[in-house]
Amino acid sequence: PYDVLVVGGGPAGAAAAIYSARKGIRTGVVAERFGGQVADTMAIENFISVKATDGPKLVAGLEQHVLDYDVDLMKMQKAVRLEKKELIEVELENGAILKSKSVILATGARWREMNVPGEAEYRNKGVAYCPHCDGPIFKGKKTAVIGGGNSGIEAAIDLAGIVEHVTVLEFGDTLRADDVLVKKANSLPNVTIIKNAMTTEVLGDGQKVVGLQYTDRTTNDSHTLNVAGIFVQIGLVPNSEFLKDTLELTQRGEVIVNAHGETSVPGVFAAGDVTTAPYKQIIISMGGGANAALGAFDYLIRQ
Ligand code: FAD
Repeated sequence: PYDVLVVGGGPAGAAAAIYSARKGIRTGVVAERFGGQVADTMAIENFISVKATDGPKLVAGLEQHVLDYDVDLMKMQKAVRLEKKELIEVELENGAILKSKSVILATGARWREMNVPGEAEYRNKGVAYCPHCDGPIFKGKKTAVIGGGNSGIEAAIDLAGIVEHVTVLEFGDTLRADDVLVKKANSLPNVTIIKNAMTTEVLGDGQKVVGLQYTDRTTNDSHTLNVAGIFVQIGLVPNSEFLKDTLELTQRGEVIVNAHGETSVPGVFAAGDVTTAPYKQIIISMGGGANAALGAFDYLIRQ
């Protein structure tokens, strides 16, 4: 069996694997798609000490660093079940069962998409999901935020300090964000909030986003908004479906962890975007992975 089996090959999983392997213990990694969300990222400018890089470069760096150690890297393998017996068992989609004394879950998350024409085509060409990451790209330009929940209104407040103007489009007839955020957004001269707005299409010129189309749900009229950037803020979904009967998750499906990265099942740790860690970023996920690996090591030496 493994001492540590890491499920997930994004920044959190890679960091967990390296920290574990450096303890000289038997370490495995299973990843459906090595690199995770980073593989879908173009410009990365907030990975501290690296002024600018891109997703594929960072993914290559992660893999090289992991393979520098004695780690069993099983790529293109999806975990479908976890069960604690004498050892912890992780079943893969292909039927194989991996056994380990401890497990670190680092399966990340995915942004909920609008599923409208143009969204996929213009992803990273104006359609963005992370204001902390991509906000500065739209400096001085007009942008839209889709979604009037906490993340949407936070994004609008954040972007208002960088871009020329932000229009928030909320599907419902009320904003679902906290009052204090709504008040703050309403006080900003360059933020407009439109309710009952259903985004129907992302408009582009073949190269980049030039606007979007939405329907006013009260009148059924269609409107066009000229924007260079569209931040989709309609939810981040944790990749934890296969865990829902095994360990404690929040209502939104996040794996509940404590400061040591421990989950509700002894010997099972978790890190990164799949967890209750409040901010979802590369550098934070890496820190989480390192933390969970040290937590797992502490657990193992006490067995
Ligand atoms: P992920 O990166 O989501 O990795 C999860 C891993 O688990 C993947 O390998 C996946 O294949 C695997 N996996 C999932 N389910 C299973 C399963 N059942 N079995 C096996 N493996 C599984 N952050 C920044 O700090 N700066 C940026 O500039 C930035 N830009 C971004 C741009 C975009 C378009 C996106 C989508 C995100 C961006 N982020 C950025 C956020 C950042 O990418 C995430 O916070 C980070 O990747 C989370 O790391 P993670 O390891 O927790 O999860």
